Amino acid sequence: MFDGLKDKLDSFRSDVEESADVEPEPEDADAEAEAESEVAAETESESTDTDAPTPAAPEGDAEADEGSDGPGRLQRAKAFATGKVVLEEEDLEDPLWNLEMALLESDVEMGVAEAILDQIRSNLVGETKSQMASTGDLVEDALRDALLDVISVGQFDFEERIAQADKPVTIVFTGVNGVGKTTTIAKMARYLEEQGYSSVLANGDTYRAGANEQIQEHADALGKRLIAHEQGGDPAAVIYDGVEYAEANDIDVVLGDTAGRLHTSSDLMAQLEKIDRVVAPDLTLFVDEAVAGQDAVERAQQFDAAAEIDGAVLTKADADSQGGAAISVAYVTGKPVLFLGTGQGYEDLDRFDPEALVDDLLGA
Ligand code: GDP
Repeated sequence: MFDGLKDKLDSFRSDVEESADVEPEPEDADAEAEAESEVAAETESESTDTDAPTPAAPEGDAEADEGSDGPGRLQRAKAFATGKVVLEEEDLEDPLWNLEMALLESDVEMGVAEAILDQIRSNLVGETKSQMASTGDLVEDALRDALLDVISVGQFDFEERIAQADKPVTIVFTGVNGVGKTTTIAKMARYLEEQGYSSVLANGDTYRAGANEQIQEHADALGKRLIAHEQGGDPAAVIYDGVEYAEANDIDVVLGDTAGRLHTSSDLMAQLEKIDRVVAPDLTLFVDEAVAGQDAVERAQQFDAAAEIDGAVLTKADADSQGGAAISVAYVTGKPVLFLGTGQGYEDLDRFDPEALVDDLLGA
């Protein structure tokens, strides 16, 4: 899972290491000598503070450094003389460019890639490290914070939400056909059962021929009841019947499928709005394929606009080496990724854990 992206993130670490872990250039020799004598003088006058991080260059130093490549040059040489290295914007320019390309190649949405880069830049520029410490560690921390920030947008405790809600809890699944929506509903029934919740399936996909049979197979395999109407019936009415059945039979959760026609279809969107009105689902989960990358991100936005989603499930993450959708969906929609589908079996549904994902991406 996400192996291609892992490799690319790893090269960012070594890129920064290479460009930052170089000694000041020979033409810096004067500045270095100057810095050394200044440092010696400072050490004499301020015998405390020697372990503190090297402070930013005072204004006077910056002036003294005028005409050189940049105001940080003296600061850098000075830090070097004290056994420290200051990361400068120019150290990061090439690695950040490479990282941006890597993220975009991995189908990370442009705005998300920029947010990650901005955060890394602001975390790392001016960062002082001891020469003994690895630049890789600093970079890894910055990368970890930046990824975590975008990936964990909107996260909430799904189990807690189910536990707290009045029963039956109604969960409606939206998304286009073929992405694994029906399989996800079946996996969710299994997942909930493991948490001690009973569930009933309701097939709101009354549009597609064969939809009832497809979901019935899952219901049979799982020993769950399916509520279904004739093809062409009213999807909101089916899910409503599912809720009534759950109320009458003390079932905890209603899992409602919906028709997955093109998200641009106003008819479909009208259907979803009607379901929202008639059933008022406790949760609306958008399902799409992790492998669909930016298309999945776009569809998530469009479905969210039609019938507000509470979170997303990304299927086929087992086949996704890119990770773009997993990284982008939450930041772009403001709604969290809650589950990853990781295979075709009923047990292949994992709670999405941003920290675990970031650890995995960074090979921790
Ligand atoms: P729907 O049209 O959206 O309801 O899609 P289906 O539930 O029928 O799934 C379409 C195909 O995707 C089926 O062959 C599923 O077994 C497969 N599928 C669903 N989820 C996953 C997943 O997480 N990983 C993999 N590898 N395949 C999946």
